[in-house]
Amino acid sequence: MILEATTPPTAPGASQELEDEFNPRLSAEARFDRAAAQLGLDDGMQKVLRTPARELIVHIPVMLDDGRLEVFTGYRVQHSIARGPAKGGIRYAPDVTLDEVRALAAWMTWKCAVVNIPFGGGKGGVVCDPSLLSPAELERITRRYTAELFGFIGPEIDVPAPDMNTNEQTMAWIMDTYSMHARQTQAAVVTGKPIALGGSRGRAEATGRGCMIVTDQALRRLGLERSATRVVIQGFGNVGGMAAKLMARAGYRVVCIIEWDGAVYNPRGLDIVELMKHRAETGSITGFAGGEDIEREEALFLETDVLLPAAKENVITSRNAHRLRTKILCEGANGPVTHAADTILAEKGIFVIPDILANAGGVTVSYFEWVQDRQGYFWNERTVNDRLEEVMVTSFQDVVAYADKHGVNNRIAAYMLSLDRVAQAIRLRGIYA
Ligand code: GLU
Repeated sequence: MILEATTPPTAPGASQELEDEFNPRLSAEARFDRAAAQLGLDDGMQKVLRTPARELIVHIPVMLDDGRLEVFTGYRVQHSIARGPAKGGIRYAPDVTLDEVRALAAWMTWKCAVVNIPFGGGKGGVVCDPSLLSPAELERITRRYTAELFGFIGPEIDVPAPDMNTNEQTMAWIMDTYSMHARQTQAAVVTGKPIALGGSRGRAEATGRGCMIVTDQALRRLGLERSATRVVIQGFGNVGGMAAKLMARAGYRVVCIIEWDGAVYNPRGLDIVELMKHRAETGSITGFAGGEDIEREEALFLETDVLLPAAKENVITSRNAHRLRTKILCEGANGPVTHAADTILAEKGIFVIPDILANAGGVTVSYFEWVQDRQGYFWNERTVNDRLEEVMVTSFQDVVAYADKHGVNNRIAAYMLSLDRVAQAIRLRGIYA
């Protein structure tokens, strides 16, 4: 089974315009262009910031369980190393493309700069369908991919982490393979590891916790109370599931969860712990006694106070943004809103917490993990959570202050802030010739 890179998820016959809207690279570039123009960055600097520093494509032969030999394609893109080692996840999916990895790598640069942690941005991907692969096959793919990346990644060079369809087990295999080649244990080569291998307490919840912290800040700004705040969450995995659990525990009314196979709704608030148990027992969120099943296509447009898309890219587009009925949009996923939808959200007066800020809790605790690994000294969970809160609150305030000062929306403000920080690092380092 060779799964070749495919084009973005548009329907056959879709117009070029729509195809472009769904291209994450073009969406990222459009936002970059606006922020760069607003900052008055010169052409040369724009060229440097736009271009990935290094890209690697590897074709990896792997023996499948049935004895067949297959070749998989993997990518690793380091968009920027101006502020520190490249940092960002590795995703496994049948439709990963180099263009997508490039866009996501650039997003990581801006994300790390928004929260002001000393990393550049990178991203990796392997074109494969994990649902069709056994754990042993996934392990062999991961180890061979890591071996091919040896020298290209490293604690001071580029530090991968989990992303779509990869997890702490994947990170443990990467850490082990890298350490075998290095002839010494190198925990800091990846983050998102199991705690027993140098992972950080609080890392698993960090992205969801970060989403809650910035939503808390938005509530303050809009004069809302947690107990009177309805939340609709798309995705019930690492980001959406954790955000749901933490927000329900903190007193928010999580009224709807939307998953790939259905949506469950309770206007009085769902019992998230029970819903998690139900899913563990039945394999689905549907048929839950504590709520009613509703049409998943419609659930996104329920009247709510907070909408938290935490599943995938291109969920809110020029075709459906006008139907949203939320006060706050907290982007837990990377790129859930297309560039073309931004204007519609602004016209509707929706308070948007852009992805590069909203979901930065994950990479922030990744940074804490890297620091702890290098110190060889591990913090308790409270310390991790307190420091995460400090970073997220400061970053939120930086972004809204920038938006107010320059009269731009939060997304462009977040881009401007980060472009400015990266450009400043490049100017200070100078161009080596
Ligand atoms: N994959 C996550 C993200 O997109 C985490 C990256 C990291 O921790 O390095 O932010």
